[in-house]
Amino acid sequence: MFSDSHRQILDQANLNFSADQLARVTELLANQALINAAGDEDLIAALEVANALYRAGAPIVSDADYDFVYLNELKRRQPEHPLLHEVEPEPVFAGKTVDLPVVMLSTDKAYSREDIERWAARIEKAAADIGEDFRALTFKVTPKLDGYAAYDDGQLLYTRGDGRKGQDITRVFERGLQVAGQGARGLGAGEIVVGRRYFDENLAQHFDNPRNFQASVIKEKELEEHALKAIADHAAVFFPFALLPHWSGPWSELIADFEAIVQDIWHKVDYDVDGVILEITDEPLKQYLGATRHHHRWQIAYKENLATANVKVVSVTPQTSRSGRITPVAELEPTRLSGALLSRATAHHYKMVVDKGIGPGALIRLARSGEVIPKIEEVLEPAEPEVPAHCPSCGHELIWDNDYLICPNNLACPAQISNSMEHFFRVLKNNDGFGAATIKKLYEYGIRRVDEIYALTAEQFESMGFGPKQSQNLVE
Ligand SMILES: [Zn+2]
Repeated sequence: MFSDSHRQILDQANLNFSADQLARVTELLANQALINAAGDEDLIAALEVANALYRAGAPIVSDADYDFVYLNELKRRQPEHPLLHEVEPEPVFAGKTVDLPVVMLSTDKAYSREDIERWAARIEKAAADIGEDFRALTFKVTPKLDGYAAYDDGQLLYTRGDGRKGQDITRVFERGLQVAGQGARGLGAGEIVVGRRYFDENLAQHFDNPRNFQASVIKEKELEEHALKAIADHAAVFFPFALLPHWSGPWSELIADFEAIVQDIWHKVDYDVDGVILEITDEPLKQYLGATRHHHRWQIAYKENLATANVKVVSVTPQTSRSGRITPVAELEPTRLSGALLSRATAHHYKMVVDKGIGPGALIRLARSGEVIPKIEEVLEPAEPEVPAHCPSCGHELIWDNDYLICPNNLACPAQISNSMEHFFRVLKNNDGFGAATIKKLYEYGIRRVDEIYALTAEQFESMGFGPKQSQNLVE
């Protein structure tokens, strides 16, 4: 698995393992399934190896696997491990390091809308602390460039290094590298990037990936002809974050239109982008929020979780939704994906189950992107599907409505009625206590409508078997 150049990178990064351990680490990085059995020491070594190779432009595992499988496992075992809280170093080059003009930190990462909302809640609390109006704050969203991090103080250009000490790479400007969009020098932090299309058309035959090329642009040795040409063609540039296209506005607008804004900003530039950066612009609040050793608290990266896995379907369970549509839920052989153990996935509708052959024994590709129950992306090996004839809740005969199998018994189907009542309280937000279990109990006692729930007294709740305290809470 490791080539000579891989070994050279590990040597330069001072990662020296015994041959035995290196063999175990190699195997662990090649096969995620070994992670549960791996010792802590091997897991940490695997992370160090993967990180060093990634930073040197020779990745051996995908970013998603690194984050969600290996790093996540370390987080589970040792939440305080320094690897989780340090700025990931850029590759080590021979040559001396110098103090950076400013500390360059990493960015905290979020993989779901909920993570982003939690971050905003911390901002809101901090704003209240210093008497600022959260609703008046400006949020800014920019593409998260996946290039080579550097800092331009107008005189010198530095690598990020360990965030405090970096290396002088001003030579890349002497080689003719331009600031993106004919921008000026001295605009601070940014990334050395190369145009995606240009890379595909002119550089892909010389470099495995853009990261590889970006790392090569800064090397001390003289550049190859095609690298110099990419610089002369202004395809490779230094892109200061200050010049990035952005969205800005108040939190209420951002969260109301979150997916659309993220998609729009993500695709605004023709460089490799691996997420978007969200931040606030209010200087006093930024100062008040400050930073950890690892990241600024006023800024967060939103990344999509693109991990996929191939898994076997054990069976498909029909579930009646509040609209009467029957949702096919595939029970799976338990699989670790994005650091979570998954055992169920949904198909869009029963037409898909029939057309694609999602039956017991089928092999499917699963993708997880933040939601609790992932969706089936693709069927790799179909199997004979099972289509239910009757509603699993009320037993009524099912009928087809375009692609959907539905239970037409809207007025008396227990699943439809309880799911509707549950949905009502979920949308209402102050749904304290009215979860699935409570609704199920109420249904058993003949409650069919939300207004009937509102009419109940504490005594009536108690007579249904709820405790006195809970009954009082439910009334309130
Ligand atoms: Zn039914």
